[in-house]
Amino acid sequence: MSKQLQFKLVLLGESAVGKSSLVLRFVKDQFDDYRESTIGAAFLTQTVSLEDGTTVKFEIWDTAGQERYKSLAPMYYRSAACAICVYDITQSASLEKAKSWIRELQRQADPSIVIALCGNKADLSARRQVSQEEAQKFAEEEGLMWCETSAKTGEGVNEIFDRIAHKLPQV
Ligand code: GDP
Ligand code: MG
Repeated sequence: MSKQLQFKLVLLGESAVGKSSLVLRFVKDQFDDYRESTIGAAFLTQTVSLEDGTTVKFEIWDTAGQERYKSLAPMYYRSAACAICVYDITQSASLEKAKSWIRELQRQADPSIVIALCGNKADLSARRQVSQEEAQKFAEEEGLMWCETSAKTGEGVNEIFDRIAHKLPQV
């Protein structure tokens, strides 16, 4: 019988970087230019199949980025197996925010948590403020996965969840 694994995943990052849009693309393969911002947190699931037939079910907590919800975040990342810290490649301040989430996870989350740093809105590269080199270098130094995505075009979205699924313990 093939294995069925289940993992809790949390999305963290500044408001409007595209966390909810990434989840919508991954779960429903849809995009919407005028998304209402998330209140508190939203819960969705999606299953991916690995080459050996193993299925990995992600239980996704899409958190709200606003400062007033910040105190709720530990509730979502405390028991998470993986976290995606999202920034917007057109807003360098959003990378600083993603870095501060990463530091918080490194201090407070389970030490085995798999963390991905994700630069979203790659379709807006004409307005880029964060270079690939800068983000990649930071990720490498911290031992994190790194990727760029566009929830709008779908570029890189399935790949990041797939890479995370492969990195999780296959027990
Ligand atoms: P969240 O607050 O981090 O959950 O961000 P949302 O998913 O609500 O997205 C904020 C805004 O950015 C919305 O207007 C989205 O349509 C837009 N957006 C999200 N992802 C992308 C992307 O990859 N490319 C572009 N061009 N816009 C995006
Ligand atoms: Mg949201």
